[in-house]
Amino acid sequence: CGIVGYTGANDTLAVLMGGLKRLEYRGYDSAGVAVVAADSSIDTRKRAGKLAVLAEDLIEHPLAAGTTGIGHTRWATHGGPTDENAHPHLGDDGKLALIHNGIIENFAPLKDELLAEGYHFESETDTEVVAVELGRAYRRLGDLRRAFSEVVNRLEGTFTLLAVHSDEPGVVVAARHNSPLMVGLGTGENFLGSDVAAFVEHTRRAVAIGEDNIAVITPDSVEVTDFAGNRVEIEEFEVAWDA
Ligand code: GLU
Repeated sequence: CGIVGYTGANDTLAVLMGGLKRLEYRGYDSAGVAVVAADSSIDTRKRAGKLAVLAEDLIEHPLAAGTTGIGHTRWATHGGPTDENAHPHLGDDGKLALIHNGIIENFAPLKDELLAEGYHFESETDTEVVAVELGRAYRRLGDLRRAFSEVVNRLEGTFTLLAVHSDEPGVVVAARHNSPLMVGLGTGENFLGSDVAAFVEHTRRAVAIGEDNIAVITPDSVEVTDFAGNRVEIEEFEVAWDA
């Protein structure tokens, strides 16, 4: 439902939680965050309930420090509002974390295929199927953007997807189909959001990502391609916001 992504030298968790707070107006039933930790592992916390429940959990069980991360508020469509069904979902043996807005209509046949190959699932969501599928593609391709390029072509439905991988610290990759995605441009840091509210506290420079495009952000770069990998020009605009 609400999506935020960040890479840069500021307090990643604070940026993610602040962004999710700003997106609360959309409504949600669960929330979660993941960061790429300094030792290049993925650390995740996710809880059913309000952001305050997640915030409490984060105080009791502090998240590893990281300079790259993703955050999500969930409005359950597939699988009830439980801790397990909350996003992020993991793939590639916990080395990849993924969040999703929307619905994957063909998740059932994709899941059957993965189950037949011996993959296991922790949740009842349509989203986890994408996390596992993306992890499988990553193992073969060794590149998160290329893994996205391959997997998004197999998905039907609506999605804004964001993922991080522990082998690509400093990188957040996102894709959209029938669901919005915005980039926020900073200095030595960049942001992603389901809408500009996710990052407007930090920057007013934004880019609206086009339909069926993939965005790759690092602290110093934003690259956009179509699903086939062809480069797409981006156009910056100034966010008008009275806050
Ligand atoms: N379909 C996904 C789920 O139920 C994502 C829902 C959302 O947009 O928050 O987990």
